[in-house]
Amino acid sequence: MASLVMDDFHFSPIGYVESCFKQKFAIPRQPGLAPHAKATIKLTENFTPETVDGLELSTHIWVQFVFHQTMEEGWSPRVRPPRLGGNRKMGVFATRSTHRPNPIGMSVVTLDGIDVGGNNVRLHVSGVDLLDGTPVLDIKPYLPYVDSVRTASNKLALMAPSLLVVKFTDKAMGQIESMQQGQDTDLLALISEILAQDPRPAYQKMDEKRTYGVTLLDFELKWRYFIHGEEASVEVLELIPHG
Ligand code: SAH
Repeated sequence: MASLVMDDFHFSPIGYVESCFKQKFAIPRQPGLAPHAKATIKLTENFTPETVDGLELSTHIWVQFVFHQTMEEGWSPRVRPPRLGGNRKMGVFATRSTHRPNPIGMSVVTLDGIDVGGNNVRLHVSGVDLLDGTPVLDIKPYLPYVDSVRTASNKLALMAPSLLVVKFTDKAMGQIESMQQGQDTDLLALISEILAQDPRPAYQKMDEKRTYGVTLLDFELKWRYFIHGEEASVEVLELIPHG
């Protein structure tokens, strides 16, 4: 009797992410590192409110998604995790690299609320490491008694990475104050959380003369680094609103 081998699958997105992160650069390397980073997962019209009935009982959810912006770049058996300073290689399956044989990501995020306006389901989440436009494959409730393993450890990443001190120029402070009005994201907290992670690629030497920039929400964020001995800090220079 011929055996049936299932070796090819077709999955369609159940929804898409609308995120504060408009560019891959400066997105935290894991979920939860920037608790003020908000997103909305908008389900496609096939998924009516009944598909999320009961999900409001979970404080957190697992989001499975496609690394759609990098999937064309393929993958390698060994990669350089940023946590190892970008100079040691490890097997792709030993890392959270975005470049994987099946470019699927998974993130635990906080479920802040569910909107079922009309027949359109929107999940409001925070603590995301998700790019705007990310296709979502599946959503599951986080189950603390299974998903949080008390005895677990990982010798590669024993603790959360250390944080840089983030300072703001008077100009940036003033801009944040005025842009905060009508904005439901705490801009000061969000910017501090993102830059404290030091978004530069691990292979890039810290350059005090260089100004870095990235699009966040609806503005361009500009910052630079200061090095004092072994320590480094970040200074936020300005926020330039988009047109
Ligand atoms: N929780 C994730 C961590 C992956 S690495 C997982 O293990 O699956 C996190 C990085 O993924 C972020 O820093 C961001 O740069 C990148 N990323 C997020 N959404 C993406 C997308 N749609 N396409 C490509 N890269 C993405």
